[in-house]
Amino acid sequence: MKDSYDLIVIGGGPGGYEAAIRAGQLGMSVACIEKRVYKGEPALGGTCLNVGCIPSKALLDSSHRYESAQHELEEHGISTGDVGIDISKMIERKEGIVKQLTGGVAMLLKGNNVDWLQGWGTLEDGKGDSKKVTFTPLDDSQETKTITAKYVILAAGSVPIDIPVAKVDNEQGIIVDSTGALDFTEVPKRLGVIGAGVIGLELGSVWRRLGSEVVVFEALPEFLAAADKDIAKEAGKLLKKQGLDIRVNTKVTGSEIKGDQVEVTFEKDGESSTETFDKLIVCVGRRAYSEKLLGENSGIQLTERGLVEVNEQCKTNLDGVYAIGDLVRGPMLAHKAMEEGMMAVERIHGEKPQVNYDTIINVIYTHPEIAWVGMTEQEAKDAGYEVKTGSFNLAANGRALAQSEGQGSIKVVADAKTDRLLGMHAISVGAGDIVHQGMIAMEFASSVEDLQLMTFAHPTVSEAVHEAALSADGRAIHAIQRKKRK
Ligand code: FAD
Ligand code: NAD
Repeated sequence: MKDSYDLIVIGGGPGGYEAAIRAGQLGMSVACIEKRVYKGEPALGGTCLNVGCIPSKALLDSSHRYESAQHELEEHGISTGDVGIDISKMIERKEGIVKQLTGGVAMLLKGNNVDWLQGWGTLEDGKGDSKKVTFTPLDDSQETKTITAKYVILAAGSVPIDIPVAKVDNEQGIIVDSTGALDFTEVPKRLGVIGAGVIGLELGSVWRRLGSEVVVFEALPEFLAAADKDIAKEAGKLLKKQGLDIRVNTKVTGSEIKGDQVEVTFEKDGESSTETFDKLIVCVGRRAYSEKLLGENSGIQLTERGLVEVNEQCKTNLDGVYAIGDLVRGPMLAHKAMEEGMMAVERIHGEKPQVNYDTIINVIYTHPEIAWVGMTEQEAKDAGYEVKTGSFNLAANGRALAQSEGQGSIKVVADAKTDRLLGMHAISVGAGDIVHQGMIAMEFASSVEDLQLMTFAHPTVSEAVHEAALSADGRAIHAIQRKKRK
């Protein structure tokens, strides 16, 4: 550890570690302070690599294969006999992937001459040219030290929101948050989930596929309120058909541990009821995490909601101090955190990149996936556009059918006056990859006609993007068109 650096990054999640690597590439002297201990070892990679994006996707993949082997192979003429699942092996595989990736990040920091300081970072004073940061090592035999830097990036991320009606205790393992739900040692017979958001749908799907009876309680009257209404409607139907019991407009009002189960009380239409579960996952959103991050005289301004206040370029109110990722406004997504980290560092270096917040992709990794970029039909109408839309059902896509994936649809939203593409929405196999086409098209200010004129390979699921664009003008080929043709 040096006494002074060009840049100190506090937080080694996707936002922080990418910022540190990019700064190393640009020749800055960099320290990345990360206090996380995962399964007894100091770990980089933040929420995403340790207890978020990656482990959840590992379990989604294992559980999907299990369900597929049980129910989907027969129609192909493949017989398997009894299919079993070894939960501890599945969890071991997940841990292996986490370890491989977090170890990889440690190597990347080293390879880019970034000092990983294992402990807590606190910005004591961010004013002036030499910012003061206290470093408190994880190893308490070492002394706390004050180090300085010309620039600081705050990247402390987020933690799950607590609700008083269901107190999380991951150690006890009955009422858990997403972290606890990634480590169940057996399949709960009945699983309750509070919150039908991204985590509720992903982790609810994992355990349902493995055999749990899953009930999801959602306080809002509308399912997936942030998604396009047509896609949300289709998603609701498909997920219910798969067996997720999603109860909207239902508010959990209490929970009580009774033996090794939990009794959940909830209200719907003014009526109170109680049901018993073996496990309960609380996933009602996340909040910015700024404990021990800011000293009393840091000078950093927070918003009312406890986020660090930043402008469009992630600059805080103090010159030379930036904040990124889940700690600041905008969606709590790893790729958004990463791009903000790169933007902050390159701006420090004198360049002028700008994250395009209009084209941040959302993906929910259910099966089929639900994904979107840009405006929903309603958002475009609310923004004053004269809107035209086109959509195409996967049931008429040859490749999707050949893969037994003929469920879902793809929708485009455009400005009827200029033909400019404003959004792309999908529920389909690989929807998360599919909507990248919309993102690239939007970045290049494409019209719907541009998508109509391109040649999409046959047979691919992407052809449904082509057909959705054609259908915006009543020209889709593999669907009867009711719209007036152009
Ligand atoms: P974090 O990843 O939270 O990293 C911040 C790090 O800072 C932490 O490791 C913390 O220990 C450290 N830290 C905090 N304070 C200090 C301090 N004072 N000193 C030192 N270190 C400190 N996003 C997606 O885009 N795709 C997904 O598929 C996805 N899946 C998810 C699944 C789950 C179950 C969860 C919980 C989240 C998921 N997310 C996903 C969200 C994603 O994990 C976050 O958006 C992302 O990790 C944010 O990155 P970050 O760098 O801002 O913060
Ligand atoms: P979320 O905001 O996606 O969903 C929370 C849901 O809980 C909402 O539908 C909300 O209406 C509901 N809710 C809130 N309070 C409630 C209550 N008291 N009772 C019942 N329902 C209640 O939050 P999350 O699922 O916890 O995920 C947290 C964050 O992590 C999200 O911001 C998300 O961006 C990120 N994440 C992303 C991915 C991904 O990109 N695939 C996966 C997991 C998590």
